[in-house]
Amino acid sequence: MSRDASPTTEAVSRLIQELNRLPGIGPKSAQRIAYYLLRANETENQSLIEAIIEVKQRTKLCSICLNVSETDICKFCSSDLRDRSKICIVEQPQDILALDHTHKYNGLYHVLHGALSPSDGIGPDDLRIKELTVRLKDGIVKEIILATNTNLEGEQTAMYLHRLISPLSIKVTRLARGLPYGTELEYADDVTLSRALEGRQEF
Ligand code: ZN
Repeated sequence: MSRDASPTTEAVSRLIQELNRLPGIGPKSAQRIAYYLLRANETENQSLIEAIIEVKQRTKLCSICLNVSETDICKFCSSDLRDRSKICIVEQPQDILALDHTHKYNGLYHVLHGALSPSDGIGPDDLRIKELTVRLKDGIVKEIILATNTNLEGEQTAMYLHRLISPLSIKVTRLARGLPYGTELEYADDVTLSRALEGRQEF
């Protein structure tokens, strides 16, 4: 009998381990995907590998709003059709996808790339707040919509930003309470998000 008690080969185990690192992929799903890839034809697998490599090579952060972009300035920041007097602040780039999908918002965005979490040692300097304050200097922005998640970290971040921005005589609003506590924006449905946007209240 082999001393290796693993029921599969080293290569399959390695693939399962790599897949298991991905968010939302538990050990069972990792196994299922690994065996799927094992059966798939090489061209399909090659195309997946290329997509993974390209996404890192071809994308960067927009130099204005820090959204993921293939150009220096993203399609929102460079568009003439967007309302430049509003900036909606989100934690992650994927939150922009969720909000824009509602078609209820036509302003600009700003991505913080995280939320304040003192217990994890994440403070204001770890977020892209400095870039935001630079954007507020020209006097064009009249409203800031705080669209951070409705969990503890998101609320702490919203409160911090409110304190920071309100002296600048810019209206600060927060997505309406229609969003249940603990909601991560990227998972909220269109109807809930649309209502939260339309019913946004002054902070
Ligand atoms: Zn941008």
